[in-house]
Amino acid sequence: MSNFLMQILEKEGVPTHFVEELNDRETVVKKVSIVPLEVIIRNISAGSFAKRFGVEEGIVFDEPTIEFSYKNDDLHDPLMNAYHAIALKLATREEIEQIKSMAFKINDVLKAYFLKLGVKLVDFKLEFGKTADGTIVLADEISPDTCRFWDAQTNEKLDKDRFRRDMGGVEDAYKEMMHRVFGD
Ligand code: UDP
Repeated sequence: MSNFLMQILEKEGVPTHFVEELNDRETVVKKVSIVPLEVIIRNISAGSFAKRFGVEEGIVFDEPTIEFSYKNDDLHDPLMNAYHAIALKLATREEIEQIKSMAFKINDVLKAYFLKLGVKLVDFKLEFGKTADGTIVLADEISPDTCRFWDAQTNEKLDKDRFRRDMGGVEDAYKEMMHRVFGD
């Protein structure tokens, strides 16, 4: 799914790490150094946003939000703003601006794509990498592990929250997402 979505994004002008899918388990990607930021875009309140701000899940935002977390397991990926990232030399101001505009573009493309499949793109996490020549590309993955997907009619969860919240039906939800993307 990740490779497929990356190819859609490439066609829409978003540079990604994707080079070639060799088989079900192996993909050739560009060598990058990962910018140590988790970039989270949200269209609808859920998860840590709902918890942090004391609001219910399901509030549809007028505009998408963006936030950064510092990728650091020892510190539990703390939330940070662009100034913190620049101060810690995780990225330059120009790179942050580029990452922001790429992230919103990715949201526009994926939100519309999933809506056609009857799926709301609630929120998702992106990671970006830098190639040897300094180009910023989308890296890592995009999948039900890194996105919240809700059925557009019923709001049924079709993502990792089924596992995180011990709701059961994890495999069925992932199969349903694969089915919506690839058909039979
Ligand atoms: N996410 C992720 N990896 C992480 C943290 C979050 O892929 O380490 C994704 C998560 O699947 C969701 C979005 O980022 O789609 C926002 O997650 P949130 O901040 O609400 O945290 P959570 O509720 O997942 O702890």
